[in-house]
Amino acid sequence: MKTGLYVYDHSTRSFLGNVRALAGFGFTAVGDTGKDFARRSDDWRRELGEIVNELDLAFTIHDELPDETTPPEEVAAWEERLALFRKWHDLFGNLAVLSWHASPAEREAGAPHLRRSLEAFVGTDVRIACENWPMIPRDYERLAGMDGEFPALGILVDIGHLHFWTGKRLAAGTITDRRAELARIIAEVPIEIVEVHVHSNNGERDEHLEIRQGDFHLETAARALALRGFDGISTFEFGVGGPGPVPYEKGRACMAIWEGALRKARAEVGKRG
Ligand SMILES: [Zn+2]
Repeated sequence: MKTGLYVYDHSTRSFLGNVRALAGFGFTAVGDTGKDFARRSDDWRRELGEIVNELDLAFTIHDELPDETTPPEEVAAWEERLALFRKWHDLFGNLAVLSWHASPAEREAGAPHLRRSLEAFVGTDVRIACENWPMIPRDYERLAGMDGEFPALGILVDIGHLHFWTGKRLAAGTITDRRAELARIIAEVPIEIVEVHVHSNNGERDEHLEIRQGDFHLETAARALALRGFDGISTFEFGVGGPGPVPYEKGRACMAIWEGALRKARAEVGKRG
């Protein structure tokens, strides 16, 4: 079980300083967006690799897959990022999960860019994950064919997104029990969940609140993950974009709550045998 936070640069402390500070607070993972990672210098990336290894952190990168509507120069930039991530991992060995957001067009086309990224990491231990595909059952079939071929393939479940999605379905009258629906979705993800994004909302829109706010179904999510034997990375995604300090204290409090819930759920599931 590893827990991390997306770290963003801001005016009062550098990204690398944030990584050290978060590790000092007990975080065991940190994440960056692929585009931010790529726009830095080679020196910066080397320093990051050294710090992440020194502090024994799992590093995660979150990025977006192109699709057939993406201009060629952007696809080329994406290919360059892919090569950069691979090169960095070859040097430092600490990229744990590379996760992708995929557009409906990419999914409908059979996910050629997802396949391309899996091919780029063959022979490494990096897990390649698609975010939120479990929300679209049709995609199960598309992934089921691919995971036999690429054992690195996994799923990133954004629990905050599932949470407002169940809220919308409840409002539309298509479900009557949000907790049961959340548990069902998590249970039915057809391949390994390697990372979860954790944030809250009030069930109406994607607010990226910390998990002490909103009506996040903490125990339900933790139990559903424990039943699957989830042992991946939890990454908090709340209010860290834009100006202002990285919310260390919020992150620390949320980490204690979330890890506590996961631990409790695991113990209960274990007891049940
Ligand atoms: Zn997310």
